[in-house]
Amino acid sequence: MTASRSFGIAVLPGDGIGPEVIDATVPLLERLAHGAPFSLDFSAHPGGALHYKATGDALPEATFAAAGKADAILFGAMGWPEIRYADGTEIAPQLDLRERLDLYAGVRPARALPGVPLPLADPRARDIDLVVVRESTEGLFASRRKGEIIDDREARDTMVITRAGSERLHDFAFRLAQRRKRRGHAGRVTCVDKANVFRSMAFFRKVFDERAARFPEIEADHHYVDATALDLIRKPWIFDVLVTENMFGDILSDQAAALVGGMGMAPSGDIGDDHGLFQPCHGSAPDIAGQGKANPTATILSAAMMLDWLADRSGVEALAQAALRLERAVDAAFAGGTLRPYELGGRDGTRAIADAVASNL
Ligand code: ATP
Repeated sequence: MTASRSFGIAVLPGDGIGPEVIDATVPLLERLAHGAPFSLDFSAHPGGALHYKATGDALPEATFAAAGKADAILFGAMGWPEIRYADGTEIAPQLDLRERLDLYAGVRPARALPGVPLPLADPRARDIDLVVVRESTEGLFASRRKGEIIDDREARDTMVITRAGSERLHDFAFRLAQRRKRRGHAGRVTCVDKANVFRSMAFFRKVFDERAARFPEIEADHHYVDATALDLIRKPWIFDVLVTENMFGDILSDQAAALVGGMGMAPSGDIGDDHGLFQPCHGSAPDIAGQGKANPTATILSAAMMLDWLADRSGVEALAQAALRLERAVDAAFAGGTLRPYELGGRDGTRAIADAVASNL
């Protein structure tokens, strides 16, 4: 018998619906680990806007240290509109974690789940299965807290694209496409940019083309960001992996989430060479917090991504199987077409959705 491998998971529930969707997800992971040849060792850590209000610290050093030491980080949501730093900016420890842990690849899959109503009437919308890879450490966000306002007359934020940042990002996107191709996807990476206008974007594209040459079995193409916004509505089923700058990815990944049923359906991973953080794409949703109405699907699917990522890093195949089981249980829960989250006009809340997934595990 092989020894069971143990994985430390730092859980950061955060604010608003963050703890609600995390509480719905962790028991599913515990169930998957039960009797499996791996164990998951969860530890919860404070942080977020409410913690800032109470203590003056949005991301305690002890939380950061635990996140840095863990094998993976499972994150709920942090932030609250009325609680802000003195300069008026929102509390966003998730951005600090991205910067400090060098989580450069924001992986945002959008897959149409069977049985979930979609905003596009075209039957081909059921084939939507794409991933936006958003650069997460530079781009326009490099200007965060560094932009300047000159004499109340002019404001400037600067886009930063580096060769090193682009090379590692593009390589990540090509490796992801390779992996997806093995699972039956097209094997294509689309570089989304504005290379016709900005030097920074022409440079991003140039580095993309250079890296593409190293992955000859993967098709590499380009799409301007405005055309991509259009085609994500007109024919989103044509895309496989899209790789893009930080701000473009921020916008396009929300658009992609809307195509498959809303923020509660959209998982994400923020991945670097040494760390991985997994969280739903949505925020703390103050408008529905505390009402049991949050859809936990995005968090559950993020947890499946976490298991898959841990499998890839550790070589523990059972983790990849657990990821697949969890994803399939989510699919099966929705496939009948009767499970309907509040955000899609239904009456199934956090508990009902988590229970439906659990009963399909
Ligand atoms: P952030 O900037 O922190 O990402 P946001 O301002 O984009 O947050 P969200 O908190 O994601 O906003 O909420 C946007 C809308 O989506 C709200 O109306 C919210 O109720 C809804 N929403 C977000 N997440 C969910 C969820 N899991 N289930 C149901 N509705 C959700």
